[in-house]
Amino acid sequence: MSTDTPRIAIVGVAGRMGRTLVAAVEQDAQTRLAAGIVEPQSSLKGADIGELAGQGKLGISAVDSLASAVDDFDVLIDFTTPRVTLGNLAFCAEHGKGIVIGTTGLGDDELAELNDYRDRVPMVFAPNMSVGVNLTLKLLETAARALGDEGYDIEVIEAHHRHKVDAPSGTALKMGEVVAESLGRSLKEHGVFERVGQSGPRSDKEIGFATVRAGDIVGEHTVLFATEGERIEITHKASSRMTFAKGAVRAARWVSEQPAGRYDMQDVLGLK
Ligand code: NAD
Repeated sequence: MSTDTPRIAIVGVAGRMGRTLVAAVEQDAQTRLAAGIVEPQSSLKGADIGELAGQGKLGISAVDSLASAVDDFDVLIDFTTPRVTLGNLAFCAEHGKGIVIGTTGLGDDELAELNDYRDRVPMVFAPNMSVGVNLTLKLLETAARALGDEGYDIEVIEAHHRHKVDAPSGTALKMGEVVAESLGRSLKEHGVFERVGQSGPRSDKEIGFATVRAGDIVGEHTVLFATEGERIEITHKASSRMTFAKGAVRAARWVSEQPAGRYDMQDVLGLK
């Protein structure tokens, strides 16, 4: 798939990320906003997506199915829910579209289903599209290799707004995976997601997770490496959804030039 100025459709265009994505595509000279999709039977069907996003009239009316926009776009940007995303992936495979997936909270079966499409669709799938977070993943790899087996306890702490539906965040899990992989540990075996009551002392190899949900926090992640005498904290704080949206638009541009495959932001940013 290759196209000079990729035409972008945004599904979930009335959502928190959807509205921010409208602004991000509008600000990007190398992509063109082509369609916005709301939930089936949504009362927002027919609304101007620019007005929905507080960007003024853009002359693009929201539709309530991908089929209604099939001839209008090259790449779909999808920040919705796991089941909706998998349906959209099937649509993109069938119609030769690229897709950028920001949706988090996919279970093991859903991830397996997503992987089944890797030979049929160019897709970027990343729990966090921000450039800063993806650089942070690189820093974590280095820190984990240097410290993880030298008596440093590793904990991942994340905070998000009160409306977030999955926990821990996809980004926190990704950070845990990067650290675990760098140390040859399995996150399934060593991840600790709950401590309550007489939970006992921590083991050397566990990677603990703690979740905060409050107010309007956009997204904060800290990975802590602590030992007797010192601790290192690697922190990323997002202060605006625009950072995720800009990353997603960059991914959309990039994926429009790629053959079928499952890619992540490290591929998009050339960090591999
Ligand atoms: P949100 O609830 O504000 O938005 C989701 C939108 O999807 C809603 O407007 C809903 O109406 C719409 N939707 C649901 N079913 C649909 C359907 N069948 N067709 C069309 N639209 C449909 O949520 P949000 O805060 O925007 O987050 C959405 C997802 O993106 C979550 O999984 C979140 O964790 C993830 N997220 C990822 C990143 C990243 O960088 N990868 C950043 C922020 C959020």
